[in-house]
Formats: sequence, structure tokens, C-alpha cells
Amino acid sequence: MSRIPTSVDPTVSKCYWNLSVGTELFSLRAENSSMPPADDGVTTAIDPQDAFQLFSHELRLEILFALWEADNYALSFSALQSAVGERDSGKFTYHLEQLTGHFVTEIDGQYVLQYAGHRVIDAIQSGVFTTSPTVEPTAAPGQCPHCGSTPTFEYETHLATVACPDCETKLIEYPFDPGGFQDRSPTEAIRTFDARTTHKWQLASSGVCFVCAGRVAVEYVDSPTELDTHDRYAEFFAAAHPAVLHLDCHHCSFFSYVPVGIRLLDSPPLIGTLATRGLDVSEHYLWELPFMTDPETLTVHNRDPWAIHVSVETETGSLTVELGPDATVDSITESL
Ligand SMILES: [Zn+2]
Ligand SMILES: [Zn+2]
Repeated sequence: MSRIPTSVDPTVSKCYWNLSVGTELFSLRAENSSMPPADDGVTTAIDPQDAFQLFSHELRLEILFALWEADNYALSFSALQSAVGERDSGKFTYHLEQLTGHFVTEIDGQYVLQYAGHRVIDAIQSGVFTTSPTVEPTAAPGQCPHCGSTPTFEYETHLATVACPDCETKLIEYPFDPGGFQDRSPTEAIRTFDARTTHKWQLASSGVCFVCAGRVAVEYVDSPTELDTHDRYAEFFAAAHPAVLHLDCHHCSFFSYVPVGIRLLDSPPLIGTLATRGLDVSEHYLWELPFMTDPETLTVHNRDPWAIHVSVETETGSLTVELGPDATVDSITESL
């Protein structure tokens, strides 16, 4: 039985597409106006604690949401005051001024939502702060790479898990935002979890933080040792892998442990080679790829410097992929 969350306000969902378009448009505009100079380092305009303090009054969030819903994310002073329903002009002016400059800018008599304002709304609309839905185990698309059975997907405390009930293997597990269930069927939501997790892992394991754009340190670690210290899940799905990648952002709180196999998906020559041998990785979910889920496919060849061998079975034989110390594909060896 499946239960897709209904606790997220359904009236909010229609705005998702508007927001993503708006954010993109605004990002382009921001490049021309308020981005810090490239050679000037990154300066902090607002103390982080003050930034959160700014939203301690509900009227300020109402102002941001009113601008988000307005055409071109812009309203005149009087239209904005009317939109939030605040009759006290002095009070309204005071709170609007608190936002003006960083979250809202006045341009030609219009108050316009800025990139920072969009990001505040994005954080709220992701649902992470406001909802914690549950999805009971439901059939997931694809097949268990170990036994061929249909895997299950379940979701609790913002953590999505794909597991095989038949061979009792936890295949993939990662946080997922409640917004992923909005406007989607259960199967679409599960496919979205797959696509989003793949892209997040690819980006972070290539050194770019998907949360803050900061630099991510990427290093191999021995799973058992490291996870004893840092495990945040009851049972880490890749705990039996001889090594995993430890990802740690220099700038924000993001950190993660992911299978080293994710680096294979970042090698176009390898992906092409696999496709010519009958394995098109784009046609498979993360949990269907043995090099993501099966510890037996991984061999630690060396630890100083690190070298990992990953074996990949294809229709014509097997490939041994060597990942070097910087977690990129160093070589591909084929045995027929
Ligand atoms: Zn199975
Ligand atoms: Zn970061």
C-alpha cells in the first residue's frame, strides 16, 4: 500500500513551476546587478544571524510571498501594502524597509523580489521546515540488481529508501525534500528521487556543493572505520562497501558518504564504452547499477595513493575501471 503525502498545502503546488521560471530569470538579472565582483572575494553583506532574525515577523514573509505571486515579482508600494492587507502604513513601511536592499529592491517605483528573497521562499516551499510526510513501502520501478525482484520505495523523516524485500538489501538511501511529491504520481516522485540523487551525487563528488556552491572536499575512506564515527543512519546502505567517498563542503554544513561508483557516471568515455557493449546507464535507476550497490564490484587496489578497481559486467564481457586518487576514471581494461 502506498500513501503519498497530502499534508503539503495543495494550493502551493501550482506555484512551483512559476517559481522555477522566475528564479532562472532572476538569476540572469542578478549577474548584471548584485553579484559580488569576481576578483573581490566573497563579502558577507548581512550577518547570518541577522538574516534569520529578519524573518521573525510574519509580515516580512508575507511581503516576500506577495511579491512572488505578483506579475514579474514586482508591486508598487500601495499594491504591495494592499496585497499583504496591512492598514498601518507606518508599520508596513518599517517592515518593508527591513527587507529592502538584499531581499527586495525598489526599481522605478516598484518593489522587486531579489535572488535572496527567492531563495528564502525556495527554502520554505521545499517543505523541509514545515512538513515531514511518510510514504509506506510502495513498488519502485526497476529491478533489484542482486535478485531481479521489484524493489520498494519508502519515505520517513525526509529520508527516502529503496530496498529489495526479497533479498533484504537496502539499495540506495538519501534525503529527499517533500516538494518532490507535489504534482507527481508515486512513480513520478520515485523517478524524481533517482534523477535528483544522481545529479546531487555527481555534482558534489566532482567538488561542487549543490547546497551553497562552495568547494567540496572529496576523499576516499574505509567504510567501516569512518561510518562508526559519523554514521547518521541506523544502517548505512553502503556500509559493506570496502570504501566510499566522503564529501565535505568547506563552506556550509553539507557532508555525505556516497558509493565510489557514482564517479563512473561522470566519465563520458566510459559511458560511451558501456553503451557500445549493451549497458546504457541512462536507462537504469541508480539502484539497478551493481557498481552503485554491490560491494563485490569494488576492490581497493591501493590506499597510498588511493586506487579503486570497479568491475562492470556488460553483455560482451567485463570491464575493470580504475579510479585514481582524485576519484576520476584513470583507465578502463576489458576482459572478454
Ligand atoms: Zn533483491
Ligand atoms: Zn556547501
